[in-house]
Amino acid sequence: MSKFKGVTVITHPLVQHNLTRLRDRRTGPQEFRRVLSEVAALMLYEATRSLAVSPVLVKTPLATARGYQLRREVVLVPVLRAGLGMLDSILQLIPHARVGFVGLKRQEISLRAMFYHKSLPPDLSRFEVILIDPMLATGGSAVAAMDLLAELGAKRVRLINLVAAPEGIRRVQSHYPRFQIFTAAVDRRLNPRGYIMPGLGDAGDRLFGV
Ligand code: URA
Repeated sequence: MSKFKGVTVITHPLVQHNLTRLRDRRTGPQEFRRVLSEVAALMLYEATRSLAVSPVLVKTPLATARGYQLRREVVLVPVLRAGLGMLDSILQLIPHARVGFVGLKRQEISLRAMFYHKSLPPDLSRFEVILIDPMLATGGSAVAAMDLLAELGAKRVRLINLVAAPEGIRRVQSHYPRFQIFTAAVDRRLNPRGYIMPGLGDAGDRLFGV
């Protein structure tokens, strides 16, 4: 947990080790992609710890065993473009998940989030939704994405961010107090251009080298 109720800070040593490599300005795009992908899988493990399961019986080659299966289908929603850097390794852990996409761009001056792409299942009410974005800065994109998810009926949303700013957490929680946030770090603050301090810079640029 953290000083923000409803925010889980993942303090696992491997997560923190990898986060530090991602923060390091010397980490180039090739390594950044690989490490972000690794850390995403570790974070997903924590973020899905509380997924609901239903008991089932399964026949082994020898007898019947009690087991569990996920109660609800999962939809992964990476926020374009930086969320893509966390998608593949997460999909390897939940290969049966569906994948929706939201493309959101921050306007330079107002920092307001604008959609340039949306593709999601039409009814999200029966799904567990995992919204993926490495950076939670102003919270504008996260809240815009959550507005869309809620309009489509989503009731259970987990937001996975590698780094979160207090400003973004407050904004998300003031709109969606029941949605859970999982992050590896709550950083100090935003700078006047809306970047997280100390952060790791522009996650999309560092991933894709542009
Ligand atoms: N998006 C980023 O990629 N980095 C920040 O610091 C803030 C928003």
